[in-house]
Amino acid sequence: MIKRLTLISASIALGCLATIVPVLTSLYVANKDVERRDREELRDFASKAMMRAELVTFQAFGALSDLDREPGVPCSPSNLEQAARVIYNYRYVQDAGAYADGQYLCSPLLGDVRKKDLALPPPDYRSNDGFLVWFRQKSPLSDVRKDLLIGRNGHYVSIDPASYVDLIDPSRRPIATIQTTTGTVMAVSAGADEDDMLNAWKHGGNVKSTDWNYAVALSSSRPLAIVVKSPRSSVTGDWPKLLAAWLTIGVVSGAALGWLAYRRITRQLSFASTLEWAISRRKIEVVYQPIVRLADNECAGVEALVRWTLHGRAISPEVFVRVAEENQLIQPLTDLVLEKTLAQLGNLLSANPTFYVSINVSGDDLCTFRFLNLLTSSLKGTGIAARQIRIEATERSFMNADATRGVIAAFRAAGHPIYIDDFGTGYSSLSYLQTFEIDVLKIDKSFVDTIAQDTASSVVAPHIISMAHELNLEIVAEGVESGLQITWLREKGVQYAQGWYYAKAMSARDLATWIGRQREQSHADSLPSI
Ligand code: C2E
Ligand code: MG
Ligand code: MG
Repeated sequence: MIKRLTLISASIALGCLATIVPVLTSLYVANKDVERRDREELRDFASKAMMRAELVTFQAFGALSDLDREPGVPCSPSNLEQAARVIYNYRYVQDAGAYADGQYLCSPLLGDVRKKDLALPPPDYRSNDGFLVWFRQKSPLSDVRKDLLIGRNGHYVSIDPASYVDLIDPSRRPIATIQTTTGTVMAVSAGADEDDMLNAWKHGGNVKSTDWNYAVALSSSRPLAIVVKSPRSSVTGDWPKLLAAWLTIGVVSGAALGWLAYRRITRQLSFASTLEWAISRRKIEVVYQPIVRLADNECAGVEALVRWTLHGRAISPEVFVRVAEENQLIQPLTDLVLEKTLAQLGNLLSANPTFYVSINVSGDDLCTFRFLNLLTSSLKGTGIAARQIRIEATERSFMNADATRGVIAAFRAAGHPIYIDDFGTGYSSLSYLQTFEIDVLKIDKSFVDTIAQDTASSVVAPHIISMAHELNLEIVAEGVESGLQITWLREKGVQYAQGWYYAKAMSARDLATWIGRQREQSHADSLPSI
């Protein structure tokens, strides 16, 4: 019961994982992708904002150069005219005038204020190339307005700081322009917090925030920086809710998958335990299929084939032999086949010393000497010679080559010929022939089927046959169904054939009748007597 519960919970947990993990992974990846795109886009925006900031600054510089070109007497009519032209020509320049000794002198906007004592304090910053900057200079014309003044050689231009940040942006992302030598915020857009933007600039935009992404652009020609920020977007939105939803889906589908897996496993378990029960109760039958010597058409021996009928239905040996192999039941099954074969064919074998029966064994039977020992002791006192019990092993059962080699040799040493079953269907047929000493090859039915046909695989059978001849191995052709195949096999020197052309597998009693009938048709003296 505990085992079943563990099985169910493990299946449900696996189902949950199988459902949730791919979804969460793709959400995570999609989220990362959105984040990356957002950052890229924000960096683009910062570069555009920087282009504007540089444009405004270079307009101020251009305006100052133009003012320098009209030296004359400060505040002379020609001087003021030039200043008016500059204001007209440079979009971001709002006023242009002259100053001296800490005083405004004149400008087209202020007029001649030389006598008004309008004070201009020392600049906030002097650049290496001779520009003076007043970051927030109160306008003599307004009590609220503060302008950015840039001056040189007694001229100044006045700029609305908002020009640095008033980009058209439908998302209204906050922008700040910073003078990097002094670390002064020159301008911020509406809604931007100066300290926040300054902090972001100090950290190169790498600010840990769950709500915002930051980007910083630096000017390559002036000590200017732009900081922009935008709200973080997320594919996943409400993370906990989403997780809860997927967990629910995961649990439900996990439970469904778990139930299916449980049903499948328990069915298999119960199939294996039913098989175990059938073996222990000897509910397994053995049938025998004749193997015919092609030289004289006589029955040289039989192959023992296992049969299991469950609830009136014949289960294919291909299926239950595999289940037996996977559930450590193959050894008891092989033992049972041997026991029944000896019980049913014992007389036939002891009375006909050239007649034989071949028994199919599996990998487990060939890994140890256990089955050989059982066989040897079972034959004692029966009058059956060792060569009359032959061992059929598929290439698959030779997988554990090291353990098998010695056991195969021991079978042969004890007098039991070894057959390779279903030859040609395994992975390394040729290498088996080289490393294992064997006596007979059984060519698989799939190759025999192609005999006398014009298909690509029809070339395989002749190759296997000539190879077996070269290695002095006898050959049994399996699954022979037509006289045409017999003629062909005989021509190629194949010694034995087994198949429905001669007979299907049958019970020991039917076999006795079959042999009797054959004997009547053929030379009575060369057939086995029962
Ligand atoms: P296998 O040892 O190659 O046995 C030959 C299979 O071919 C048998 O199927 C036989 O009935 C079938 N067969 C023979 N002649 C013809 C034919 O002319 N036409 C067709 N269509 N089929 C033919 P079966 O009895 O169903 O056995 C299948 C496999 O199960 C066997 O192949 C063998 O690998 C395994 N098996 C059967 N009995 C035992 C056993 O006692 N122990 C072990 N370990 N495996 C067994
Ligand atoms: Mg076989
Ligand atoms: Mg076979």
